[in-house]
Amino acid sequence: MATETSGSQYYLPEALPPPHPAPDGRDLEFWEALKRHQIVVQRCNSCGNLQMEPEWLCHKCLSFDRGWQQVEGKGRIYSWVRIWHPVPAALKPACPFVVVLVELPQANNLRIAGNLLGDPQQPIEIGAPVEAVFEDHREKGYTLLQWRLAR
Ligand SMILES: [Zn+2]
Repeated sequence: MATETSGSQYYLPEALPPPHPAPDGRDLEFWEALKRHQIVVQRCNSCGNLQMEPEWLCHKCLSFDRGWQQVEGKGRIYSWVRIWHPVPAALKPACPFVVVLVELPQANNLRIAGNLLGDPQQPIEIGAPVEAVFEDHREKGYTLLQWRLAR
């Protein structure tokens, strides 16, 4: 795990309630995989469709036979936003920070959101290659998926 912020081991302050799996458990494997520093996306056992966010049924064939597929922590920036005025006021001291929507070419171009680590005022290019960074919050029992520009 590595972050590139100074003065804190995390990219954003722990000012919000920790993320948690959905109460019905449909995305539990995604969160458990992050703790192992892996990314998994939902894969339909009937038709092979990949989807994200995880759901109880396949959006393509409506099967309930759900599985998971590990994907590489490499993608490209599909979209991004630099946050100056966060809705949760508790994040104001961390501004600006960058949220990216990352497309995973090896997984049918599924998209996953996260923060872009590094200089929050860095120029950002659509399509730029990025790689996953797993930010462990061991004392609270979760891991966040963050991104940084690929070297
Ligand atoms: Zn399906």
